[in-house]
Amino acid sequence: MTASPLNLQSIWAATAPAAPQLPELRESTRADVLVIGGGFQGLSTALHLAEAGTDVMLLEAEEVGFGASGRNGGQVIPGLKDDPDTLDALWGPQATAFAGATADMLFALVDRLGIDCDAQRGGWIQAGSKRVHLGGLQARMAQWQARGADVDWLDAAAMARATGACGYRGGWLDRRAGKVHPLKLAHGLALAAQRAGARMHARSPVGALERAGTGWRARLLAGPEVTAARVVLATNAYTPGALDRALSRATVPAHSFQIATAPLGEADLSRILPGGVCVSEIRRVGTYFRIGPENRLMIGGRGTFAAPRRPSDFAALEAELEALFGARFAGAQRWFGRVAMTPDHRIRLCEPAPGVLAATGFNGRGVALSVSLGKAMAAYLAHAEPLPIPPERRIRTLPLHALHRVYGGLAIHYYRLRDHLDW
Ligand SMILES: Cc1cc2nc3c(=O)[nH]c(=O)nc-3n(C[C@H](O)[C@H](O)[C@H](O)COP(=O)(O)OP(=O)(O)OC[C@H]3O[C@@H](n4cnc5c(N)ncnc54)[C@H](O)[C@@H]3O)c2cc1C
Repeated sequence: MTASPLNLQSIWAATAPAAPQLPELRESTRADVLVIGGGFQGLSTALHLAEAGTDVMLLEAEEVGFGASGRNGGQVIPGLKDDPDTLDALWGPQATAFAGATADMLFALVDRLGIDCDAQRGGWIQAGSKRVHLGGLQARMAQWQARGADVDWLDAAAMARATGACGYRGGWLDRRAGKVHPLKLAHGLALAAQRAGARMHARSPVGALERAGTGWRARLLAGPEVTAARVVLATNAYTPGALDRALSRATVPAHSFQIATAPLGEADLSRILPGGVCVSEIRRVGTYFRIGPENRLMIGGRGTFAAPRRPSDFAALEAELEALFGARFAGAQRWFGRVAMTPDHRIRLCEPAPGVLAATGFNGRGVALSVSLGKAMAAYLAHAEPLPIPPERRIRTLPLHALHRVYGGLAIHYYRLRDHLDW
């Protein structure tokens, strides 16, 4: 008996209008700046460059939002994975201020452009289920509070009221945060970039990038070439090795799996995330959840390194959902996407050669970050404004990258065990 095929259409693809009609690139041409990759990073870079009057072209291999930007949890979370004090010490207070303002920036952009992407600013909770989590969460909250952020501590009772979930001992609420429909946001950014004058092309995969005099030449798989003075590699976890071997080896492309339930009834809606807040767990291998389109409950978490092939590949996530909310939910929609992970959970912003910029390794926290970073990269390219995070002069690759599935898979088992043993 053959297994029934698995439908992996995301809730976002099921509830967004069709992608904007962007043409394929058929003729060779030139641009001042070429952006490769049509996710939030590339779209925001192209938009802000076009608004600054720069001659910019964007090439996307599939449709805009095809990568992580059109598949994520839509949680708009400011900050990076490190605490603010650590960021100050690592990259300077300008990096911390930038990181703290990424959600403000995204929501302001959505407002300014009038993008219809179900934006809602209901806050975000980072939740701890073990006693050992609480000190770190409290310290992080206090550090943001000291910088004027609108944040609060929630004890176990407040966590139960805000989330409707069992088992959280505490967490911090960040009111700067919120949520969006990410695929609608990607579409809206693409249309805004096009209106601003960016030349936007879909179904136009770049096969190779090489030097051409003082600039660069991108060869498309279909034949045309684009020469450009400067290039932004915004392909992140979806970077093919042929395009940039080092960038494709700078991160471990891990899979994040997601489920959306059937629309919740009134009773569930009044107990589960009643204030519209999003939640991410602080566990090493934790889940994240929110209410999504059509009042569906959505949960995501780390999946296998191989692509899911059958519904049972999502069983662990379904079990998490049941454990959290004490009920089984019908009508699951299942999908997955690639997250670029780095061993230190830090972003890699690189300028590996004159005229080339690349950012990767957002470690599953890239919605607000990629949109904001795109704006900052555009300001750097158009007006030579300093980048908020100092760029590295080379792309650091991971040793034994070809074995990432093996050691990544082992690491997940190890971290799950450690999560289990924590108290
Ligand atoms: C399942 C999932 C859930 C997540 N949830 C959240 C969340 O709730 N909150 C949060 O902050 N972050 C989340 N993230 C992370 C976030 O989605 C990403 O960090 C962010 O979208 C990265 O944007 P990007 O533009 O850099 O990359 P992407 O959106 O991946 O864009 C890269 C693009 O490059 C294109 N491309 C690749 N190769 C080529 C080529 N050769 N030529 C042309 N184009 C090419 C790809 O097709 C792709 O569209 C999640 C990620 C996943 C996968």
